[in-house]
Amino acid sequence: MIHKTIIEPFKIKSVEPIYLTTEQERLELIEAAHYNPFLLHSTDVIIDLLTDSGTSAMSSEQWAGIMRGDESYAGSQSWFKMYDAVYSLTGMKHILPTHQGRAGERIVYSHLGGPGKVFFSNTHFDTTRANIEFYGATAIDIPTQEAKDTSLIRPFKGNMDVDKLEELIKHYGASNIGAVILTVTNNSGGGQPVSMQNAHQIRKVCNQYDILFLLDCCRIAENSYFIKHREEGMENKSYVEIAREMFNLADGAIMSAKKDALVNMGGFVALRDDALFEELTSLLIITEGFTTYGGLSGRDMEALAIGLKEIFDPHYLEYRVKSTAYLGEHLHQMGVPIMLPTGGHAVYIDAKKLYPNIPPHEYPGQALVVELYKIGGIRAVEIGSVMFGKYSDGGQLIPAAAELVRLAIPRRVYTQSHIEYVIETFSNIMRNREHVRGYEIVEEPKFLRHFTAKFQPL
Ligand SMILES: *Cc1c(COP(=O)(O)O)cnc(C)c1O
Repeated sequence: MIHKTIIEPFKIKSVEPIYLTTEQERLELIEAAHYNPFLLHSTDVIIDLLTDSGTSAMSSEQWAGIMRGDESYAGSQSWFKMYDAVYSLTGMKHILPTHQGRAGERIVYSHLGGPGKVFFSNTHFDTTRANIEFYGATAIDIPTQEAKDTSLIRPFKGNMDVDKLEELIKHYGASNIGAVILTVTNNSGGGQPVSMQNAHQIRKVCNQYDILFLLDCCRIAENSYFIKHREEGMENKSYVEIAREMFNLADGAIMSAKKDALVNMGGFVALRDDALFEELTSLLIITEGFTTYGGLSGRDMEALAIGLKEIFDPHYLEYRVKSTAYLGEHLHQMGVPIMLPTGGHAVYIDAKKLYPNIPPHEYPGQALVVELYKIGGIRAVEIGSVMFGKYSDGGQLIPAAAELVRLAIPRRVYTQSHIEYVIETFSNIMRNREHVRGYEIVEEPKFLRHFTAKFQPL
């Protein structure tokens, strides 16, 4: 028989305890944390959906690799394994190992960027934008129009607006463009996938104007899953073939291996161009490390090489995307306003629609994040006016474009019953929605305030 139930395609060999708290204890804990879940201790959290970054469970093969790690300063065996894994996937012969994604971004964008330069992306991830802007260049997001409507169901809401790209290249002048960066999947745009057709169109424009085309490929395997199942003509290709086809279109790639490479720390830059590689190698050696380890231990490179292969296992990918969709579908059926369709690594909730009585300057997303913790011990992250809000000269809040809350699912960490528990918590959130009130900020730092700001209920 063919089973309908999708099971976790792994068994558990080693476990970590979850400490169960009572609602009364959580009321005190969240008050002591100034109503900011970033300030909670992880042991006080029951289900931690803060991020999918660096939170994956490694396989027994990866742990075996950790023991085999070759810690030689130069020419480590583990480096050659990582090199082979990255090369066989990307087809790019120059590879720079970095300690995480943003280290690669700093190396690449400090060199390509600077005052007067402009970068385009479907959406720059926040560290990407920060690294581009820090060196004086401009980062411009050009998602498609359909991405802006959270309830619209479309297969590739992560795509870049290619007409707009061409228009902006003409406007700024091709020689001023640092690079075009395609983020797959589009993390800040709701984990929505990018189509192969979109990548082909971008390649064409970059060829026409002689501009560098880079992939921010943190979730390339999850993106390949969506392409195989949603894009015409792709259904008979394997996930790894689809990923290779996309890499084939780009001139370079930057990866945070903390996502789809199933490791807790790591990253790389992959390139084709010899001259660019030489320039960037100097920067790697100055700030990360020698070319055969960069920012990584031998054991990390070993685990990364193994993770990069495991991620393309069809059973794993099906479980991964369908279990995220399962959470999304159940919340949607319950009437929770979520971003549709569900992306690869997370479910995003529209807190403005959930709590229409809480205005943006009273932070509806923060209210939801606190409710989730109080009711279920679940930790999520606000992606709204706490994270992106700015103040006018008169001290008025200029709200973010949307008030979202992200439930990011760590890879291979939680089981079906954990997800059921999250769904059950939301039924309580829905029942209680009229009684929830907003928050005010009582203390905040100048930059990246969401990490450390202190709140008070209104
Ligand atoms: C996580 C992430 C980065 C940055 O990687 P780090 O490993 O956190 O430094 C860059 N781009 C995207 C799309 C990401 O998701």
